[in-house]
Amino acid sequence: PNMGDGLSTFLNSGIYQFENSNAVFIDPVRVMNRSYTHFQVSPSAYYPRFFESKALAQESRVSSSSSRKRKRKEKKPHSLNDREKAAEQRHQEARPFLLKAHKCLLRATALLELMSNMRSDSESLQECGDLVSPSVPQQSFVELGQDWHAPFYEIILDFHQYEKLNVDKGSMIMQYSEQKVHPLFNNLVLNETGDDVEAEFLSSRFVIPRKSCFLMSDLEQIHSLIPAESCCGFNLIVVDPPWENGSARQKSRYPTLPNRYFLSLPIKQLTHADGALVALWVTNREKLRGFVEKELFPAWGVTHVATFYWLKVKADGSLINDLDLFHHRPYECLLLGHCHREAMDSECLSKFKPVQHNQIIISIPGAYSRKPPIGGLLPEYFPGFKPTRCIELFAREMTSGWTSWGNEPLHFQDLKYFNRN
Ligand code: SAM
Repeated sequence: PNMGDGLSTFLNSGIYQFENSNAVFIDPVRVMNRSYTHFQVSPSAYYPRFFESKALAQESRVSSSSSRKRKRKEKKPHSLNDREKAAEQRHQEARPFLLKAHKCLLRATALLELMSNMRSDSESLQECGDLVSPSVPQQSFVELGQDWHAPFYEIILDFHQYEKLNVDKGSMIMQYSEQKVHPLFNNLVLNETGDDVEAEFLSSRFVIPRKSCFLMSDLEQIHSLIPAESCCGFNLIVVDPPWENGSARQKSRYPTLPNRYFLSLPIKQLTHADGALVALWVTNREKLRGFVEKELFPAWGVTHVATFYWLKVKADGSLINDLDLFHHRPYECLLLGHCHREAMDSECLSKFKPVQHNQIIISIPGAYSRKPPIGGLLPEYFPGFKPTRCIELFAREMTSGWTSWGNEPLHFQDLKYFNRN
Protein backbone atom coordinates (compact mmCIF):
# COMPACT_ATOMS: atom_id res chain seq x y z
CA PRO A 1 0.00 0.00 0.00
CA ASN A 2 1.08 3.53 -0.70
CA MET A 3 2.13 4.90 2.66
CA GLY A 4 1.31 8.57 3.12
CA ASP A 5 4.17 10.97 3.72
CA GLY A 6 2.94 11.59 7.23
CA LEU A 7 3.05 7.91 8.08
CA SER A 8 6.57 7.28 6.78
CA THR A 9 7.80 10.37 8.66
CA PHE A 10 6.08 8.96 11.76
CA LEU A 11 7.85 5.61 11.41
CA ASN A 12 11.22 7.39 11.50
CA SER A 13 10.57 10.19 13.92
CA GLY A 14 7.74 8.97 16.14
CA ILE A 15 5.85 12.20 15.37
CA TYR A 16 2.71 12.24 13.21
CA GLN A 17 1.53 15.69 12.19
CA PHE A 18 -2.18 15.73 11.32
CA GLU A 19 -2.83 17.76 8.18
CA ASN A 20 -4.21 21.28 8.63
CA SER A 21 -4.31 20.81 12.35
CA ASN A 22 -2.49 21.96 15.47
CA ALA A 23 -2.39 18.38 16.72
CA VAL A 24 0.32 15.72 16.61
CA PHE A 25 0.32 12.07 17.64
CA ILE A 26 3.56 10.82 19.14
CA ASP A 27 4.92 7.38 19.91
CA PRO A 28 7.33 8.03 22.80
CA VAL A 29 9.16 4.76 22.09
CA ARG A 30 10.04 5.84 18.54
CA VAL A 31 10.91 9.37 19.67
CA MET A 32 13.22 8.08 22.42
CA ASN A 33 14.87 5.60 20.06
CA ARG A 34 16.43 8.52 18.25
CA SER A 35 18.71 8.85 21.29
CA TYR A 36 20.23 5.37 20.93
CA THR A 37 22.49 3.49 18.52
CA HIS A 38 22.87 0.01 20.02
CA PHE A 39 19.65 -0.15 22.01
CA GLN A 40 15.93 0.34 21.54
CA VAL A 41 13.41 1.26 24.16
CA SER A 42 11.32 -1.84 24.87
CA PRO A 43 7.71 -1.07 23.81
CA SER A 44 6.30 -3.67 26.22
CA ALA A 45 8.21 -2.15 29.13
CA TYR A 46 7.08 1.34 28.15
CA TYR A 47 3.42 0.57 27.48
CA PRO A 48 2.04 -1.95 29.97
CA ARG A 49 -1.48 -0.52 30.05
CA PHE A 50 -4.09 0.68 27.59
CA PHE A 51 -3.45 -2.20 25.23
CA GLU A 52 -5.98 -4.69 26.58
CA SER A 53 -8.35 -6.11 23.99
CA LYS A 54 -11.89 -4.76 23.85
CA ALA A 55 -13.36 -7.92 25.37
CA LEU A 56 -10.96 -7.76 28.29
CA ALA A 57 -11.59 -4.08 28.79
CA GLN A 58 -15.31 -4.68 28.96
CA GLU A 59 -14.85 -7.48 31.44
CA SER A 60 -12.79 -5.32 33.76
CA ARG A 61 -15.34 -2.55 33.50
CA VAL A 62 -18.13 -4.89 34.55
CA SER A 63 -16.13 -6.35 37.40
CA SER A 64 -14.91 -3.05 38.85
CA SER A 65 -18.06 -1.81 40.42
CA SER A 66 -16.15 0.75 42.45
CA SER A 67 -15.09 2.61 39.33
CA ARG A 68 -18.69 2.53 38.13
CA LYS A 69 -19.77 4.06 41.39
CA ARG A 70 -17.15 6.74 41.01
CA LYS A 71 -18.38 7.64 37.56
CA ARG A 72 -21.98 7.76 38.68
CA LYS A 73 -21.06 9.99 41.57
CA GLU A 74 -19.16 12.38 39.34
CA LYS A 75 -22.08 12.81 37.00
CA LYS A 76 -24.36 13.92 39.78
CA PRO A 77 -24.89 17.67 39.31
CA HIS A 78 -23.79 19.80 42.21
CA SER A 79 -23.21 23.50 42.45
CA LEU A 80 -19.62 24.47 41.79
CA ASN A 81 -17.59 26.69 44.07
CA ASP A 82 -15.59 29.58 42.59
CA ARG A 83 -12.43 27.56 42.06
CA GLU A 84 -14.35 24.73 40.39
CA LYS A 85 -16.08 27.27 38.17
CA ALA A 86 -12.72 28.68 37.07
CA ALA A 87 -11.46 25.17 36.34
CA GLU A 88 -14.62 24.41 34.38
CA GLN A 89 -14.12 27.56 32.35
CA ARG A 90 -10.56 26.56 31.45
CA HIS A 91 -11.88 23.18 30.44
CA GLN A 92 -14.60 24.68 28.24
CA GLU A 93 -11.99 26.84 26.48
CA ALA A 94 -9.80 23.83 25.70
CA ARG A 95 -12.64 21.44 24.87
CA PRO A 96 -13.18 22.37 21.18
CA PHE A 97 -9.44 22.03 20.39
CA LEU A 98 -9.25 18.70 22.18
CA LEU A 99 -12.31 17.33 20.40
CA LYS A 100 -11.04 18.48 17.02
CA ALA A 101 -7.65 16.88 17.62
CA HIS A 102 -9.28 13.63 18.70
CA LYS A 103 -11.41 13.62 15.54
CA CYS A 104 -8.23 13.94 13.45
CA LEU A 105 -6.85 10.87 15.18
CA LEU A 106 -10.03 8.82 14.65
CA ARG A 107 -9.98 9.71 10.93
CA ALA A 108 -6.35 8.60 10.50
CA THR A 109 -7.15 4.92 9.94
CA ALA A 110 -3.66 3.85 8.85
CA LEU A 111 -2.18 5.40 11.99
CA LEU A 112 -4.82 3.72 14.18
CA GLU A 113 -3.85 0.39 12.74
CA LEU A 114 -0.18 1.02 13.58
CA MET A 115 -1.16 2.10 17.10
CA SER A 116 -2.85 -1.16 17.89
CA ASN A 117 0.50 -2.93 17.29
CA MET A 118 2.78 -0.36 18.85
CA ARG A 119 3.33 -2.40 21.98
CA SER A 120 4.50 -5.53 20.17
CA ASP A 121 6.72 -3.78 17.58
CA SER A 122 10.29 -5.06 17.50
CA GLU A 123 9.71 -7.62 20.26
CA SER A 124 11.86 -10.06 18.30
CA LEU A 125 14.89 -8.10 19.51
CA GLN A 126 16.93 -9.41 22.39
CA GLU A 127 15.37 -8.26 25.62
CA CYS A 128 17.77 -6.75 28.11
CA GLY A 129 15.28 -7.37 30.87
CA ASP A 130 16.66 -10.90 31.21
CA LEU A 131 20.04 -9.49 32.08
CA VAL A 132 18.65 -8.10 35.29
CA SER A 133 17.77 -10.86 37.66
CA PRO A 134 14.13 -10.50 38.67
CA SER A 135 15.09 -11.14 42.28
CA VAL A 136 17.16 -7.96 42.33
CA PRO A 137 14.79 -5.06 42.95
CA GLN A 138 15.59 -1.83 41.18
CA GLN A 139 17.77 0.56 43.18
CA SER A 140 15.91 3.46 44.68
CA PHE A 141 18.22 6.34 43.85
CA VAL A 142 16.08 8.61 45.98
CA GLU A 143 16.80 6.50 49.08
CA LEU A 144 20.47 5.85 48.28
CA GLY A 145 21.04 9.56 47.68
CA GLN A 146 19.86 10.29 51.22
CA ASP A 147 22.05 7.60 52.72
CA TRP A 148 25.09 8.70 54.76
CA HIS A 149 27.46 6.98 52.38
CA ALA A 150 25.92 8.53 49.24
CA PRO A 151 29.20 10.45 48.56
CA PHE A 152 31.01 7.11 48.25
CA TYR A 153 28.77 5.49 45.64
CA GLU A 154 30.41 5.21 42.24
CA ILE A 155 29.20 4.47 38.75
CA ILE A 156 31.40 2.76 36.19
CA LEU A 157 31.09 3.80 32.55
CA ASP A 158 32.23 1.21 29.98
CA PHE A 159 33.47 3.01 26.90
CA HIS A 160 34.06 0.94 23.80
CA GLN A 161 35.97 2.30 20.87
CA TYR A 162 36.13 0.58 17.55
CA GLU A 163 38.91 0.98 15.07
CA LYS A 164 39.11 -0.51 11.61
CA LEU A 165 42.56 -1.89 10.90
CA ASN A 166 43.75 -2.75 7.41
CA VAL A 167 45.84 -5.88 7.55
CA ASP A 168 47.32 -7.93 4.73
CA LYS A 169 44.21 -9.75 3.60
CA GLY A 170 41.35 -7.42 4.34
CA SER A 171 40.41 -5.47 7.40
CA MET A 172 39.54 -6.24 10.96
CA ILE A 173 37.78 -4.32 13.69
CA MET A 174 39.66 -3.76 16.90
CA GLN A 175 37.76 -2.97 20.02
CA TYR A 176 39.28 -0.97 22.83
CA SER A 177 37.57 -0.82 26.14
CA GLU A 178 38.07 1.74 28.78
CA GLN A 179 36.35 2.11 32.12
CA LYS A 180 35.81 5.41 33.85
CA VAL A 181 34.67 5.63 37.46
CA HIS A 182 32.69 8.63 38.69
CA PRO A 183 30.99 9.54 41.94
CA LEU A 184 27.26 8.88 41.29
CA PHE A 185 25.70 11.59 43.44
CA ASN A 186 26.22 15.36 43.34
CA ASN A 187 28.49 15.01 40.34
CA LEU A 188 27.98 15.79 36.66
CA VAL A 189 28.46 12.52 34.74
CA LEU A 190 29.03 12.96 31.00
CA ASN A 191 29.07 10.81 27.92
CA GLU A 192 30.73 13.08 25.40
CA THR A 193 31.13 10.35 22.80
CA GLY A 194 28.86 9.90 19.79
CA ASP A 195 27.81 6.44 20.96
CA ASP A 196 25.70 4.88 23.73
CA VAL A 197 27.69 3.94 26.81
CA GLU A 198 26.79 1.16 29.24
CA ALA A 199 27.25 1.89 32.91
CA GLU A 200 27.26 -0.25 36.03
CA PHE A 201 26.10 0.61 39.49
CA LEU A 202 25.73 -1.98 42.25
CA SER A 203 24.06 -4.92 40.54
CA SER A 204 22.32 -2.98 37.76
CA ARG A 205 23.31 -1.81 34.29
CA PHE A 206 22.25 1.42 32.63
CA VAL A 207 22.44 3.03 29.19
CA ILE A 208 23.81 6.56 28.82
CA PRO A 209 22.88 8.06 25.45
CA ARG A 210 25.47 9.80 23.25
CA LYS A 211 26.37 13.39 24.04
CA SER A 212 24.34 13.55 27.23
CA CYS A 213 24.97 14.12 30.90
CA PHE A 214 23.20 13.86 34.21
CA LEU A 215 23.43 15.31 37.68
CA MET A 216 21.80 13.17 40.37
CA SER A 217 21.22 15.36 43.39
CA ASP A 218 18.68 16.87 45.71
CA LEU A 219 17.16 20.27 44.95
CA GLU A 220 19.64 21.78 47.39
CA GLN A 221 22.53 21.05 45.00
CA ILE A 222 20.84 22.21 41.80
CA HIS A 223 23.02 25.32 41.80
CA SER A 224 26.01 23.34 40.58
CA LEU A 225 24.26 23.25 37.18
CA ILE A 226 24.44 27.02 36.75
CA PRO A 227 26.98 27.74 34.03
CA ALA A 228 29.86 30.09 34.75
CA GLU A 229 29.20 31.89 31.46
CA SER A 230 25.68 32.76 30.38
CA CYS A 231 26.51 31.76 26.79
CA CYS A 232 26.70 28.20 28.14
CA GLY A 233 23.17 28.41 29.53
CA PHE A 234 20.17 26.55 28.14
CA ASN A 235 17.73 27.44 25.33
CA LEU A 236 15.13 24.88 26.30
CA ILE A 237 14.24 24.10 29.92
CA VAL A 238 11.65 21.37 30.52
CA VAL A 239 10.36 21.13 34.11
CA ASP A 240 8.10 18.44 35.56
CA PRO A 241 8.05 19.21 39.29
CA PRO A 242 6.97 16.71 41.96
CA TRP A 243 3.77 18.68 42.73
CA GLU A 244 1.92 17.61 45.82
CA ASN A 245 -1.30 15.76 45.13
CA GLY A 246 -4.57 17.37 46.05
CA SER A 247 -5.61 14.54 48.29
CA ALA A 248 -3.42 12.68 50.74
CA ARG A 249 -5.15 9.49 49.64
CA GLN A 250 -3.48 9.57 46.24
CA LYS A 251 -0.09 8.02 46.85
CA SER A 252 2.78 9.20 44.70
CA ARG A 253 5.58 7.04 43.29
CA TYR A 254 8.17 9.64 44.20
CA PRO A 255 8.64 12.20 46.97
CA THR A 256 6.72 15.44 46.40
CA LEU A 257 7.50 18.98 47.52
CA PRO A 258 5.34 21.93 48.62
CA ASN A 259 4.92 24.58 45.91
CA ARG A 260 7.06 27.19 47.64
CA TYR A 261 10.20 25.05 47.05
CA PHE A 262 9.87 25.57 43.31
CA LEU A 263 9.95 29.36 43.63
CA SER A 264 13.71 29.16 44.23
CA LEU A 265 14.53 27.07 41.13
CA PRO A 266 17.30 29.06 39.39
CA ILE A 267 15.54 29.22 36.01
CA LYS A 268 16.95 32.61 35.11
CA GLN A 269 20.51 31.60 35.96
CA LEU A 270 20.14 28.46 33.81
CA THR A 271 18.89 30.52 30.85
CA HIS A 272 21.17 31.12 27.87
CA ALA A 273 22.36 34.69 27.19
CA ASP A 274 19.95 34.73 24.22
CA GLY A 275 16.98 33.50 26.24
CA ALA A 276 15.18 30.21 26.81
CA LEU A 277 11.86 28.56 26.14
CA VAL A 278 10.56 27.10 29.42
CA ALA A 279 8.06 24.22 29.28
CA LEU A 280 6.35 23.42 32.59
CA TRP A 281 4.08 20.43 33.19
CA VAL A 282 1.13 21.23 35.45
CA THR A 283 -1.80 19.21 36.78
CA ASN A 284 -5.40 20.28 36.29
CA ARG A 285 -5.78 21.57 39.85
CA GLU A 286 -7.04 25.11 39.65
CA LYS A 287 -5.14 26.13 42.78
CA LEU A 288 -1.88 25.08 41.13
CA ARG A 289 -2.67 26.92 37.89
CA GLY A 290 -3.27 30.09 39.89
CA PHE A 291 0.01 29.63 41.77
CA VAL A 292 1.99 29.19 38.54
CA GLU A 293 0.45 32.20 36.81
CA LYS A 294 0.52 34.59 39.76
CA GLU A 295 3.63 33.50 41.68
CA LEU A 296 5.87 30.92 40.05
CA PHE A 297 6.32 32.33 36.52
CA PRO A 298 6.83 35.88 37.86
CA ALA A 299 9.40 34.58 40.40
CA TRP A 300 11.27 32.77 37.62
CA GLY A 301 11.09 35.75 35.26
CA VAL A 302 9.07 33.72 32.76
CA THR A 303 6.40 35.22 30.47
CA HIS A 304 3.63 32.74 29.64
CA VAL A 305 3.26 32.55 25.84
CA ALA A 306 1.23 29.41 25.09
CA THR A 307 -0.53 26.38 26.56
CA PHE A 308 -0.26 22.91 25.05
CA TYR A 309 -2.41 19.91 25.97
CA TRP A 310 -1.35 16.29 26.26
CA LEU A 311 -4.39 14.22 25.30
CA LYS A 312 -4.21 10.63 26.52
CA VAL A 313 -5.66 7.82 24.40
CA LYS A 314 -5.78 4.04 24.50
CA ALA A 315 -4.32 1.83 21.78
CA ASP A 316 -7.71 1.72 20.04
CA GLY A 317 -7.73 5.53 19.77
CA SER A 318 -10.43 6.13 22.40
CA LEU A 319 -9.81 8.64 25.21
CA ILE A 320 -8.61 7.08 28.49
CA ASN A 321 -11.49 8.84 30.32
CA ASP A 322 -14.58 10.73 29.33
CA LEU A 323 -13.48 14.24 28.31
CA ASP A 324 -15.85 15.87 30.79
CA LEU A 325 -15.06 13.86 33.92
CA PHE A 326 -14.27 16.63 36.38
CA HIS A 327 -11.53 15.01 38.48
CA HIS A 328 -10.19 12.60 35.89
CA ARG A 329 -9.59 14.63 32.75
CA PRO A 330 -7.96 12.62 29.96
CA TYR A 331 -5.44 15.42 29.42
CA GLU A 332 -2.69 17.40 31.17
CA CYS A 333 -1.29 20.83 30.40
CA LEU A 334 2.13 22.07 29.39
CA LEU A 335 2.65 25.78 29.96
CA LEU A 336 5.22 27.45 27.70
CA GLY A 337 6.98 30.68 28.48
CA HIS A 338 9.99 32.76 27.51
CA CYS A 339 12.75 33.60 29.93
CA HIS A 340 15.47 36.20 29.44
CA ARG A 341 18.41 36.99 31.64
CA GLU A 342 18.24 40.71 31.04
CA ALA A 343 15.40 42.96 29.94
CA MET A 344 14.21 41.65 26.60
CA ASP A 345 15.39 43.57 23.60
CA SER A 346 13.89 43.12 20.16
CA GLU A 347 17.02 41.54 18.72
CA CYS A 348 16.82 38.85 21.35
CA LEU A 349 13.12 38.26 20.85
CA SER A 350 13.52 37.89 17.10
CA LYS A 351 15.52 34.71 17.67
CA PHE A 352 12.36 32.99 18.86
CA LYS A 353 9.54 31.95 16.59
CA PRO A 354 6.17 32.72 18.15
CA VAL A 355 4.78 29.59 19.79
CA GLN A 356 1.42 28.53 18.42
CA HIS A 357 -1.19 28.48 21.19
CA ASN A 358 -3.42 25.48 22.02
CA GLN A 359 -1.36 22.75 20.40
CA ILE A 360 -2.43 19.20 21.19
CA ILE A 361 -0.03 16.31 21.71
CA ILE A 362 -1.78 12.94 21.57
CA SER A 363 -0.15 9.77 22.87
CA ILE A 364 -0.78 6.50 24.69
CA PRO A 365 0.48 7.04 28.27
CA GLY A 366 3.46 5.00 29.42
CA ALA A 367 3.68 3.17 32.74
CA TYR A 368 4.59 4.90 36.01
CA SER A 369 2.95 8.17 34.85
CA ARG A 370 5.81 9.04 32.52
CA LYS A 371 5.35 12.20 30.50
CA PRO A 372 5.74 11.94 26.73
CA PRO A 373 9.09 13.24 25.39
CA ILE A 374 8.19 16.68 24.05
CA GLY A 375 11.75 17.82 23.36
CA GLY A 376 11.51 16.85 19.71
CA LEU A 377 8.50 19.12 19.18
CA LEU A 378 10.00 22.31 20.60
CA PRO A 379 13.38 23.14 19.03
CA GLU A 380 11.60 24.49 15.93
CA TYR A 381 10.78 27.54 18.04
CA PHE A 382 14.39 28.69 18.23
CA PRO A 383 15.85 28.18 14.80
CA GLY A 384 18.71 30.56 15.66
CA PHE A 385 20.27 28.19 18.18
CA LYS A 386 22.25 25.25 16.85
CA PRO A 387 22.71 22.93 18.56
CA THR A 388 19.91 23.74 20.94
CA ARG A 389 21.08 23.43 24.53
CA CYS A 390 18.40 21.51 26.42
CA ILE A 391 17.90 20.56 30.05
CA GLU A 392 15.21 18.59 31.85
CA LEU A 393 14.64 19.35 35.54
CA PHE A 394 13.25 16.57 37.80
CA ALA A 395 14.07 14.10 35.03
CA ARG A 396 13.72 10.34 35.42
CA GLU A 397 15.38 9.60 32.08
CA MET A 398 18.04 10.88 29.71
CA THR A 399 17.99 12.11 26.11
CA SER A 400 20.88 12.40 23.70
CA GLY A 401 22.13 15.97 23.55
CA TRP A 402 20.43 16.86 26.84
CA THR A 403 21.38 17.46 30.45
CA SER A 404 19.12 15.61 32.92
CA TRP A 405 18.84 16.66 36.52
CA GLY A 406 16.81 15.22 39.40
CA ASN A 407 17.18 12.83 42.32
CA GLU A 408 16.74 9.82 39.99
CA PRO A 409 17.65 10.76 36.38
CA LEU A 410 18.88 7.20 35.73
CA HIS A 411 15.56 5.62 36.73
CA PHE A 412 14.37 4.70 33.24
CA GLN A 413 17.91 4.21 31.89
CA ASP A 414 18.03 0.76 33.55
CA LEU A 415 18.77 -1.84 30.86
CA LYS A 416 15.54 -3.63 31.75
CA TYR A 417 13.64 -0.91 29.85
CA PHE A 418 15.64 -1.59 26.66
CA ASN A 419 16.17 -4.17 23.94
CA ARG A 420 19.56 -4.67 22.35
CA ASN A 421 19.80 -4.04 18.61
N1 SAM B 1 9.05 13.86 33.99
C1 SAM B 1 9.31 12.63 34.70
C2 SAM B 1 8.84 11.45 33.89
O1 SAM B 1 8.05 11.64 32.95
O2 SAM B 1 9.26 10.33 34.18
C3 SAM B 1 8.57 12.61 35.99
C4 SAM B 1 9.13 13.56 37.00
S1 SAM B 1 8.30 13.40 38.55
C5 SAM B 1 6.88 14.38 38.33
C6 SAM B 1 9.23 14.36 39.68
C7 SAM B 1 10.63 13.86 40.04
O3 SAM B 1 11.19 14.76 40.99
C8 SAM B 1 10.66 12.48 40.68
O4 SAM B 1 11.65 11.72 40.05
C9 SAM B 1 11.07 12.78 42.13
O5 SAM B 1 11.84 11.73 42.72
C10 SAM B 1 11.92 14.02 41.94
N2 SAM B 1 12.10 14.78 43.19
C11 SAM B 1 11.28 14.85 44.26
N3 SAM B 1 11.83 15.60 45.24
C12 SAM B 1 13.05 16.00 44.78
C13 SAM B 1 14.10 16.78 45.35
N4 SAM B 1 14.01 17.30 46.58
N5 SAM B 1 15.22 16.99 44.63
C14 SAM B 1 15.33 16.47 43.38
N6 SAM B 1 14.36 15.73 42.79
C15 SAM B 1 13.23 15.49 43.48
